[in-house]
Amino acid sequence: MHELSLVASVFDILEEKAREHGAARVVRVVLKVGVMAGVVPDLLESAFDIYKKGTLAEGARLEVVVVPVRTRCPDCDGEAVREDADFSCAACGSRRIEIVEGRELIVERIELET
Ligand SMILES: [Zn+2]
Repeated sequence: MHELSLVASVFDILEEKAREHGAARVVRVVLKVGVMAGVVPDLLESAFDIYKKGTLAEGARLEVVVVPVRTRCPDCDGEAVREDADFSCAACGSRRIEIVEGRELIVERIELET
């Protein structure tokens, strides 16, 4: 499962941050996941629940914020937010569309307890 390896790298970040701040526990984690990140939020949550056992995030709550795709058209400079995967410009029909946002998986927020 792809999500499990992503969660493993999220935990690397959690452990590093906890160490940095001398925290004993992670209480809440907010992840921003682009709709094009290739991740299923439900699977991400269950992978997190499996992985957290026995770690300092054992009691942590995970929140997944899904980020829609934002595209920019270099031909007409139009920006659009879309949920589908139709990558032509809605304004001018250009197919040279650039994806500005929506492919990322970011640890947006970590709440720690000392
Ligand atoms: Zn355009």
